[in-house]
Amino acid sequence: MTIVQSDLVLPHVGGTRVAPSGATTVELVNPATGAAFAEVASSDAAQLDAAVDAAHAAQREWARLGPERRAALLWKWGELVRAESDDLAAADTLTMGKPLHETQREAPSIANRIRYWAGMADKINGRQLPIIPGHLSYTVREPLGVVGVIIPWNGPMGMFVGRTSVALACGNGVVAKPSETTPLSALRLAELTVEAGIPAGLVNVVTGDGSVGAMLAAHPRVEGLQFTGSVETGRKVATLAAPTFKQVVLELGGKAPNIVFADADLDAAARGTAWGVFSNTGQACVATSRLLVERSVADEVVERIVAIARGLKVGDPNDPTVQLGPLASERQHDRVCDYLKLAVAEHARAAVGGSPLPGPGYYVEPTVFVGVESQMRIAREEIFGPVLSVIPFDGEAEAVELANSVEFGLSANIWTSDVGRMLRLADSLDAGTIWGNTARLLHPGLPFGGFKDSGLGNASGEGALEGNTRLKRVSVLYGADLQGPGFGG
Ligand code: NAD
Repeated sequence: MTIVQSDLVLPHVGGTRVAPSGATTVELVNPATGAAFAEVASSDAAQLDAAVDAAHAAQREWARLGPERRAALLWKWGELVRAESDDLAAADTLTMGKPLHETQREAPSIANRIRYWAGMADKINGRQLPIIPGHLSYTVREPLGVVGVIIPWNGPMGMFVGRTSVALACGNGVVAKPSETTPLSALRLAELTVEAGIPAGLVNVVTGDGSVGAMLAAHPRVEGLQFTGSVETGRKVATLAAPTFKQVVLELGGKAPNIVFADADLDAAARGTAWGVFSNTGQACVATSRLLVERSVADEVVERIVAIARGLKVGDPNDPTVQLGPLASERQHDRVCDYLKLAVAEHARAAVGGSPLPGPGYYVEPTVFVGVESQMRIAREEIFGPVLSVIPFDGEAEAVELANSVEFGLSANIWTSDVGRMLRLADSLDAGTIWGNTARLLHPGLPFGGFKDSGLGNASGEGALEGNTRLKRVSVLYGADLQGPGFGG
């Protein structure tokens, strides 16, 4: 596959690339150089309608195939994705600057994710509920119909596969809207569904900016919505979806507390924290961006993280030895640089980094701020860059209070060797995912969803089945000695 098939990137509707429909285009820019290399066509309302129609038609065919056959086709899709791992990795590195050493590890793992959901396709069951004698009551998990998938730019292929493969396993059709800056891998992944023998039209990818996402969120014939992105857009999407009562799952932002106690393996904690906040150049919803560290070991832990930050190789993401690439866009670079300036204005001090790096490309230094207080904006807001804020604490109670003091509740990390303390903290933290002595451990079989402003519902594990199906209850009277309902008798 050539990563960029033409200067104008086209949507994938009804099983094929289709002509541009909207009047506007969006420029694709390589963040490692700042150079534009292609444009993406924008889908208009009629093209979106065509995608929804195609998904509905193909979904009926998909339903008729039955779960075993669907599982086999999904498995085949996974095989094709694995075979094209290198190209898919190159596509995400080109559009968002994620270092090749990360995307090349990620691409085969997304194939595994498809195969996990292929394995689930014939295990999506209801239950029998023997509650009322003489009646057979049971539940069925039915597909929703067509699921809209709206995803951001910070993990294009993983997010597309994560949301789409479970929707398909549950028997749905999909219309996806990837980020306007990173659509290449999603488009190729959709083409691969057709090559795998999955009905053409089951997976559609419309393209364009947020206005196309808004049309998808509001579309009256889209029954489910899987949205991943910022809190601000999540609120808009939920509002757009409300009039048609779509089943909505929102995976939003985070400001993960990363709590290190003095009794922890400090080396493991420092390595895990640095990796958690610097990999993908900090552009992760689960970035370990708030280091809450017990005061007695704060200097030591910071020293270790600073040493790791100084040793990171920053540069061209296509160099397989590079660990920190550019930020994904000029807009993201401006945003992170604004926070670097804000940190100084808030009287935090950079223990390492703190500045943009000279271009071309959208690079910043890996940064650790000390002298941070919990009410500062850098300690509360999602920066989405390689920036760590360090806040010391004294004792468990203060650690919990600081951890829970932000609006987000996506994930939290705890580093301690005391099992009791680990479990107490896991109980007390307001976060949908708790990692103990580890970070960013994700698997399609494990739930993942946010509390508070970090979202609604679950996009992974058993929770994802709920988000992609509707529950039907059936009750049938069979008891010969029982009389059915009615007046009299
Ligand atoms: P964003 O909210 O700006 O955009 C996300 C997607 O929504 C894009 O495809 C965009 O085009 C679309 N969109 C924009 N406006 C829209 C509207 N009004 N209606 C419908 N769709 C619209 O987010 P982003 O900047 O692309 O991504 C970064 C954010 O995503 C961060 O906040 C990050 O934490 C979050 N994120 C969350 C998770 C998670 O699983 N919780 C994972 C990755 C990223």
